[in-house]
Amino acid sequence: MKCPFCQHEETQVLDTRVSEEGDAIRRRRRCTHCDKRFTTFERIELAMPVVVKKNGSRTEFDPVKLRASLMLALRKRPVSAEALDEALQRIKEKLLSSGEREVLSGHVGELVMRELKRLDKIAYIRFASVYKSFEDVAEFQNMIEEFSGPPARKK
Ligand SMILES: [Zn+2]
Repeated sequence: MKCPFCQHEETQVLDTRVSEEGDAIRRRRRCTHCDKRFTTFERIELAMPVVVKKNGSRTEFDPVKLRASLMLALRKRPVSAEALDEALQRIKEKLLSSGEREVLSGHVGELVMRELKRLDKIAYIRFASVYKSFEDVAEFQNMIEEFSGPPARKK
């Protein structure tokens, strides 16, 4: 990343975070030459890896479906919307920080389970028991859509 002030080629990343809307990465940078600071934005849509299913087919990463999966597992559990948002954010950040253009669906499932384990043990067991009997997260999500529709958003 070129420094916009002195055109120096090297800058140091001071801080990286996903925007509140979850659709961009904001990086605070410092030029190693002139020491000036600036912020860059990267759109997540461009960086989000494509999900590779077990059968080899590719599907676009869908944050809406991912949220629906977690909400289904967390139904009637004492977990706040904020805690859910943070968990989703961490999953996205991990997928983004891998830098890979493709990610195995099983890996996405593992990330989801890791987050649920931290959030709520019951939700974790729910998700794990259902998820294990499915090929991948995409199938779990299809199941949600077919049988229950997207769960109602609760506070
Ligand atoms: Zn500079």
